[in-house]
Amino acid sequence: MITLGIEGTAHTIGIGIVEDKKDHCNVLSNVIKTYHPETGGIHPREAANHHAEHVASLIKQALHKAEISLSEIDLVSFSQGPGLGPCLRTAATAARALSLKIQKPIIGVNHCVAHLEIGRGTIPGCTDPVLLYTSGANTQVIAFAEGKYRVFGETLDIGIGNCLDKFGRTINLPFPSGPTIEKHAQKGSTYLSLPYSVKGMDIAFSGLLTRAQQYAHGKKPIEDICYSLQETTFAALTEITERAMAHTEKDQVLLGGGVAANQRLRDMVGMMAEDRGASFFVPRKDLCVDNGAMIAWLGYVMVKSGIKMNIDETIINQRFRTDMVEVTWRD
Ligand code: AMP
Ligand code: MG
Repeated sequence: MITLGIEGTAHTIGIGIVEDKKDHCNVLSNVIKTYHPETGGIHPREAANHHAEHVASLIKQALHKAEISLSEIDLVSFSQGPGLGPCLRTAATAARALSLKIQKPIIGVNHCVAHLEIGRGTIPGCTDPVLLYTSGANTQVIAFAEGKYRVFGETLDIGIGNCLDKFGRTINLPFPSGPTIEKHAQKGSTYLSLPYSVKGMDIAFSGLLTRAQQYAHGKKPIEDICYSLQETTFAALTEITERAMAHTEKDQVLLGGGVAANQRLRDMVGMMAEDRGASFFVPRKDLCVDNGAMIAWLGYVMVKSGIKMNIDETIINQRFRTDMVEVTWRD
């Protein structure tokens, strides 16, 4: 069975085509196009316009790369939420049009759950992980427990990626700023004290961001601020992830989201896993960031377990929570 997935929750429009190979996900193609605002953060309407402009050519590109024709697609999957309304509606509209055109079923999926399922689908041995999902807007620790994917910990204010990007904007770094902050951090050596906000299994970044901005205005070395920012936020993320692993008694940890590209975060979570005797997994880069292949794969997994959707059930949900998903494909 071949599934085409459309991702469009925020800044990225992505098309992925996957097929199942003995319950393993074989990615045939996975192409994305990302909207970069000229100044400031993401403007939802402009991002949606960007997605509308590129979605058709991305579908063609994905088919070409996968070396298949439209008639060979068996299922259309799309990101139903959570995300920015205009972006979600654009991806959903494209998915509905495609499904009607090729007369094949459609399914809407939860974006956060897709980040977890693509790890299970593509990485051997990754069967029941705790996911540390670190992206621009989202920061959550997710694991399967008693029939659902549950959020064990999450940010109480902004996402970790947002925190890094906002700090980057303060010091005039290009968007997204995470990769540049990582380079600066490698040259930092002096730890500048920042508030460490772990509240139970939740986490907060805005106080720490303000303090980091004050250091920047106070002309502290950028390298030291970036270093301190990474050390503090990543330590807190690692702590809540470890707590979820201890609580659920799981011995696998998976990273997902754009910030998972960061080597220091990988090292910290990897060390924690090693200390616990747990396995540590990171999907390959194109499957870590927002992408269509993970959306396609989750759509396939859901349909295979018997879930069906009519077009009128494909309404988007900006606040589609991870634990709202009825997980019929695992026990
Ligand atoms: P996503 O929303 O999952 O597409 O992830 C985008 C976020 O990942 C942005 O906030 C980026 O700044 C961040 N990001 C990308 N690469 C890195 C990196 N090497 N280190 C830290 N953050 C990163
Ligand atoms: Mg994401």
